[in-house]
Amino acid sequence: MKISLIKQENSNYDKKLLIIGVFHGDEPQGEYFINSYLNKSKINGKNSLFFIPRLNKNNERKNLNGVDLNRNFPTKNWKKSENNDYYGGTKPNSEEETKFLVDLIEKNKFDGIITIHSPYKTINYDGDALDLAQKIKKFLGYKITDDIGYPTPGSFGTYCGVERNIPTITIEIDEEENIEKLNEKFSLLFDYLKNEF
Ligand SMILES: [Zn+2]
Repeated sequence: MKISLIKQENSNYDKKLLIIGVFHGDEPQGEYFINSYLNKSKINGKNSLFFIPRLNKNNERKNLNGVDLNRNFPTKNWKKSENNDYYGGTKPNSEEETKFLVDLIEKNKFDGIITIHSPYKTINYDGDALDLAQKIKKFLGYKITDDIGYPTPGSFGTYCGVERNIPTITIEIDEEENIEKLNEKFSLLFDYLKNEF
C-alpha cells in the first residue's frame, strides 16, 4: 500500500506542520479539502506544510485489516480489550498506515500536527496545543476541548501530543455544514498555517 505524502516545503522554513485527512475511511471530507487546496496553492510562504490527503484507503472507519488506526499507536495506554471493542490491532503499530506515520514523525521534527475527522464540531487538542486550537477556532468556530469524552487507547493524539509533546489537533468537522463553505474555511486556514502561523 502506498500512502501519498505531499510536501510544500520551504528550504528556509520557520515551522513545519503535518496535516492529515481521512484517518477514518467513512470521514472523507479532509481529502477533499486538502486536494482542493493543493490544486490551487503554490509552494511559498514561511512555513513548510506536509499533507497526507488520505491515510486510510478503506471506505469504512477501520482500515482494510479491520483495525481502527486511531487506536493502533504504540502508546503507554494501548490495550486490547477482551472483546476487542477498540479494534486497535493485534499489537500496537501493527498496521502499515501506523508505521508510516510513526516513521515520518521520528524523522521530522514537526511543530504541529492536524488531523481532520467528522462529525462532532469540535477542535480537540493533545499536548501543548491550546494556542494552535484557538487559532484554528477563528476559522472554524467550533468549541475547543482537551477531552473527547470517551476512552481512546492507542490514539494518534496521545502518541504525538501527550507522549511526544508535539502540539496535536483533532478537528471534528460539522458534517451538516455546506461542504463548499467548509472547503473555503479550510483553504483560508491552510493559507494561514503556511504564511502566518
Ligand atoms: Zn474519526
